Amino acid sequence: MQGVCREHDAPILPRGAGTSLSGETVNEAVVVDCSRHLTRIDAPDERARLIRAEPGAINEKVSEHAGRAGLVFGPDPSTHGYCTIGGNVGNNSCGMHSVQAAFEGDGARTSDNVHALEVLTYRGQRLRVSRGAIEGRAQTS
Ligand SMILES: Cc1cc2nc3c(=O)[nH]c(=O)nc-3n(C[C@H](O)[C@H](O)[C@H](O)COP(=O)(O)OP(=O)(O)OC[C@H]3O[C@@H](n4cnc5c(N)ncnc54)[C@H](O)[C@@H]3O)c2cc1C
Repeated sequence: MQGVCREHDAPILPRGAGTSLSGETVNEAVVVDCSRHLTRIDAPDERARLIRAEPGAINEKVSEHAGRAGLVFGPDPSTHGYCTIGGNVGNNSCGMHSVQAAFEGDGARTSDNVHALEVLTYRGQRLRVSRGAIEGRAQTS
């Protein structure tokens, strides 16, 4: 998809619930609503204290799944029943329980609570980024 957009010089704008406060999800662009289909949440890895979710997964649902392993995803904006993990990452969101997360983990912000991201760039590179590491390969479509 991003290959076609690139051919036509069309910008791409991913969005989750669109609850950002500064119009971040409004533009003349191909808008990708991740909350529609990119919603998978895997079972939590209790030992590693990690959970893997697609960007359109709802924050509250991710926390519900994580709760099965006694974990909580700390950042919980007031919009937690609607906002998505992709939007949390895009805005580096916090929340009421973020303060508690700061005591139990690395900090209060979403960036403090993300282990790794799989990223697709506009130029078609698929990257796995984590603290201190970037692995990637080019993708053609
Ligand atoms: C009433 C109200 C209360 C709020 N309370 C809080 C609060 O307590 N704490 C707080 O931190 N925020 C708060 N917010 C702001 C907002 O709800 C949060 O920032 C939330 O995390 C945004 O999630 P979203 O799914 O709506 O993201 P969106 O608004 O859809 O997107 C946010 C940004 O992330 C980008 N993005 C989304 N998905 C992707 C993706 N897959 N790949 C790349 N970029 C992506 C978008 O382009 C955009 O720039 C509040 C907002 C409202 C309206």
